[in-house]
Amino acid sequence: MKMTRRGFLQVSTAGLAAAAVPGVLRAAERSRVAIVGGGYGGATAARYLRLLAPEIEVVLVEPDPAFVSCPMSNLVIGGFRAMADITVAYDGLERAGVRVVHDRAIAIDGDRRQVRLARGDAIAYDRVIVSPGIDFMWEGLPSLKTAEQRAGVLHAWKAGAQTAELRKRLESMRDGGVFVIAIPEAPYRCPPGPYERACQAAAYFKAAKPRSKVVILDANEDVTSKGALFKKAWSELYAGMIDYRPNSRVIDVDPRDGTLKLDFGDERGDVVNLLPPMRAGDVAKPFITANGRWCEVDWLTFESRAVKGAHVLGDSLQVAPLMPKSATMANGHGKVCAAAVAALLRGEAPNPAPTLLNTCYSMVSDKAAIHVASVHKYDLGERTFKAVPGAGGLSQASSEAEGTYAVNWARNIWADMLG
Ligand SMILES: Cc1cc2nc3c(=O)[nH]c(=O)nc-3n(C[C@H](O)[C@H](O)[C@H](O)COP(=O)(O)OP(=O)(O)OC[C@H]3O[C@@H](n4cnc5c(N)ncnc54)[C@H](O)[C@@H]3O)c2cc1C
Repeated sequence: MKMTRRGFLQVSTAGLAAAAVPGVLRAAERSRVAIVGGGYGGATAARYLRLLAPEIEVVLVEPDPAFVSCPMSNLVIGGFRAMADITVAYDGLERAGVRVVHDRAIAIDGDRRQVRLARGDAIAYDRVIVSPGIDFMWEGLPSLKTAEQRAGVLHAWKAGAQTAELRKRLESMRDGGVFVIAIPEAPYRCPPGPYERACQAAAYFKAAKPRSKVVILDANEDVTSKGALFKKAWSELYAGMIDYRPNSRVIDVDPRDGTLKLDFGDERGDVVNLLPPMRAGDVAKPFITANGRWCEVDWLTFESRAVKGAHVLGDSLQVAPLMPKSATMANGHGKVCAAAVAALLRGEAPNPAPTLLNTCYSMVSDKAAIHVASVHKYDLGERTFKAVPGAGGLSQASSEAEGTYAVNWARNIWADMLG
């Protein structure tokens, strides 16, 4: 079977052996970068590679037909936005010259430099960029071993069907019911996200079911982000509605009725939202080098410490000091990595001094928001990103002006990553 490495190819399973033969693959055509995951990290890397290096062929593998955003998904759960408002098509990327393959990557073979797809094909690459987000550590919850046992327990921590389902359950909950949200120990995706979700549920209850309550079971000893601002919002906007319980770790769940088992006693809710402990997305397994959970990289290029030619972005990473697992960060990773990969494929040196920014808004009601911001500069001596002292900061108070900035932040970042 004759095939070129750089023409667009989906190598059949029969072709995998041939794909390993040197010479057969080395046609003098364009370099190809395969990207796994069309979320904040992967879509940004895809678009910026095309902008920075039009000579490179970019193939993006993403199973979902359209991008659905986690940021702003809590507004859907509160009933203040629809799923359509957080869904963006991939055609902007296609117009930018990215080939979008709607399939799931089941393995990345670093020796053969191939991404294997669920439908049986494979994509050969010169470099691969992997940004699959997070998956859950179900093994820590002994009664939730099978998909069937997990069916009744919602995380809604990947935007999509579970977001819509959680909204539906809140809508059908009786007035006077209890919504329980359980937060795992940090690190997890989006530190302020669970507290924002509690605000959104409370905003809905205040308007539609005023006798209802929100219980926050937090495995951490205190609110992990924007703590004083969230606590102020809870007492001023939702007095008596939100019961915050620190040091409350869920150790198991009864799949029959969703009862949460804690170190001390059980907790029941009319609607239960469990965020299990998290780790790098399944397909990033070959790149996991930290605590069996996260992927370490060379921060100048985002190249994996475990597999040459493979770069990892976004929530799957073992973060640098004070670097959050956020969409803004993943978007920044995508840009720095795209520039580095373009340089490497041209035989040039990557930028030796990249800078990343983070801004993360949280909606504390249907209209008002708060933010946290930081700047992270590459430190040549320590070979990691370090937060710049005095840069960034926190809102002084929540405001509707910040609510408008939050909505515009979302629109801008979707345009930036998806075209
Ligand atoms: C409720 C909530 C609110 C949030 N709010 C904010 C916010 O306001 N601001 C902020 O900055 N961040 C926020 N975040 C965090 C943000 O969503 C993540 O940090 C960001 O999505 C990380 O980007 P990523 O590329 O790592 O993963 P994702 O954006 O999740 O993208 C991963 C993509 O990979 C695909 N994928 C997974 N496995 C495979 C595979 N095997 N093959 C092919 N494709 C695959 C998935 O389908 C997905 O499209 C929020 C998160 C949540 C859950």
